[in-house]
Amino acid sequence: MAIADPNQPIDALKGVGPSLKEKLARLGIFRTMDLLVHLPLRYQDRSRVVSLQSLRAEQEALVSGEIVDVKFGYGRRRSLFVTIEDQTGFLGLRFFHFSKNQQAGFRVGRFVQCFGQARFGREGLEMAHPEYRLFDTAPEPPAAELTPVYPTTKGLGQARLRSLTSQLLDMEWPSDDGTPYDSLAYLHRPPADAATDAIAAARNRIARDELTAYYLVMRHRQAAHASQTAQALPQAKKLGAMLLKNLGFELTAAQRRVAREVLEDLAQDKPMLRLLQGDVGSGKTVIAAFAAIRASEHAMQTALMAPTEILAEQHYATFSEWLSPLGIEVVLLTGSQGAKERAAAREAIVEGRALVAVGTHALFQNQVEFKQLALTIVDEQHRFGVHQRMALRAKGHTPHQLVMTATPIPRTLTMALYADMAVSTLDELPKGRLPIATRVIADGRRDEVIARVTQLLKSGQQAYWVCPLIDDSDNLPVSAVESTAQLLKAKLPGVAIGILHGRLKGSEKAAVMTRFKAGDLQLLVATTVIEVGVDVPNATLMVIENPERMGLAQLHQLRGRVGRGASQSSCVLLYKSPLSATGKQRLQVVRDSQDGFFIAEKDLQLRGPGELLGARQTGETQFRIADLHEHAGLIPEVVKRGDELLANDPATAERLLSIWAPQDSGHISV
Ligand code: ADP
Ligand code: MG
Repeated sequence: MAIADPNQPIDALKGVGPSLKEKLARLGIFRTMDLLVHLPLRYQDRSRVVSLQSLRAEQEALVSGEIVDVKFGYGRRRSLFVTIEDQTGFLGLRFFHFSKNQQAGFRVGRFVQCFGQARFGREGLEMAHPEYRLFDTAPEPPAAELTPVYPTTKGLGQARLRSLTSQLLDMEWPSDDGTPYDSLAYLHRPPADAATDAIAAARNRIARDELTAYYLVMRHRQAAHASQTAQALPQAKKLGAMLLKNLGFELTAAQRRVAREVLEDLAQDKPMLRLLQGDVGSGKTVIAAFAAIRASEHAMQTALMAPTEILAEQHYATFSEWLSPLGIEVVLLTGSQGAKERAAAREAIVEGRALVAVGTHALFQNQVEFKQLALTIVDEQHRFGVHQRMALRAKGHTPHQLVMTATPIPRTLTMALYADMAVSTLDELPKGRLPIATRVIADGRRDEVIARVTQLLKSGQQAYWVCPLIDDSDNLPVSAVESTAQLLKAKLPGVAIGILHGRLKGSEKAAVMTRFKAGDLQLLVATTVIEVGVDVPNATLMVIENPERMGLAQLHQLRGRVGRGASQSSCVLLYKSPLSATGKQRLQVVRDSQDGFFIAEKDLQLRGPGELLGARQTGETQFRIADLHEHAGLIPEVVKRGDELLANDPATAERLLSIWAPQDSGHISV
């Protein structure tokens, strides 16, 4: 038996060439170990042949029978229709696409074993395009194990993943290095009679390791950070008090508390690393402004990073309004600026004239030289993922860091996820905010919604109409926005309508946003690019098309674009009917709650397995096994174990890192 080497490159396995290697890399699989911890999302039971009589509609099952009839079906589309029989009954197999060879294979008297989902068709129960195998005699007994279904990527089939993992499982793995290979092997091929509990227990064991490794990474980063020095920024000129006077509103108690926490951190000569959590509209920007002012009082620079150009433009406008009267120069740095403009901004930054630089995240990563950078602020950090923390270098000292997010994270999770950071929470909305009246309406009643928009615009207020991004890779998002805009233009003659989507150039987007902010545009038809942070208090109606396709947290963020002024705002979730039961429940959660924490929890509970893959890839964390909902309960134990390993067992800590966070391993001295 071959001896497994966990760190061997994946192309050491049989059958892995450059193309497959590239696909595996997309799944984060580079070494054999990575494949070993690439665990199934779920399993199919192909261990039991279900008798045709007992087969029920919607059931996913392995069935077996003799071919008794082959014919063509003519419904809306021509199809090949094969009838099979076992001792108990009949079943139809329907193929809309089939080759000559396939067709020839189905001969009366042969046997078929197939796996698929049964549905009611015109002629009783049938399976459309089942996976099947043909036999000349009665087929072999079914699999003794559950069949794994792996997370995968385009062009990589389950059969391939199964055969690759089989190669691994046939090897001999080290027995003494403390890795739970037995649990991993079990999860790849559980016995056919495995209890759900037993599978969950094995997953827990692995998730616990993964979370522990993550916690160790965070602890290591924290230690590395704490050993550095920063420019101490104690109170100096009281410019903050001037902003307070000019603001035109009173800070909430939460804002006062959080501002104090931030400013106290800044006064230290240790670099601040603080996460500021606050629901949409809780007023995070002004906290950032106080921090930037404090740095400016010492003639030190601040970099403010936003995830989108729109948001960068908006922060630039807000900061200019707030900071210019205090004599603080603010510059903007975006990808859509002309070369000359950008060079000028960079020069102001290099020379140290500009004390505050606002820009997109990407731009700052492209090596902007600061004269004296003392503070970095990252807005809407959840867009970048937990693992991608900012690493802006400063000469000499490490800059203080403030990281802001509107993604509510339950407290238990913060313990481990942000173990490297101090956490401040804005748990209060500014006074006088009315809840946003939210309604769930079927798209058949679109005209009523349009009538409502008309009325609202007449009163001088503004509205958003958002269409979902259907697929990044094709033209649909643009056409969805454009066709909707077309329709609205036809129905709302004389209304100034703007269009905003990801395909526009940065400068075009900014121009549209500026006109909307100024009130020159009354209605903004947009993709979800406006999800993040856009602030136009006079916009009081948000219509969201196809909300059933969006995550609840995203809907909550979108809705948060309204309800920012004193007038009553509303949100219409214009869904495409019919809606599934879960779909209905999900939208009701958003309708009935304005609490981001609650909505995030519900989203985790209600999302179906189909959405899991997407969420895994794009969500805020990139865990392979651990599921923050399912495994949240493990976290206190993980924290305790991680602390113990660091104190007493660095070898085990290092091993966990080498499996789960190879890029972070090698730091713990063994
Ligand atoms: P978010 O936390 O979503 O980033 P913003 O900082 O954009 O929220 O604030 C939302 C809106 O509320 C802005 O127009 C801001 O000026 C305003 N605002 C912030 N704090 C207060 C307050 N204490 N009272 C009234 N309005 C406030
Ligand atoms: Mg914001």
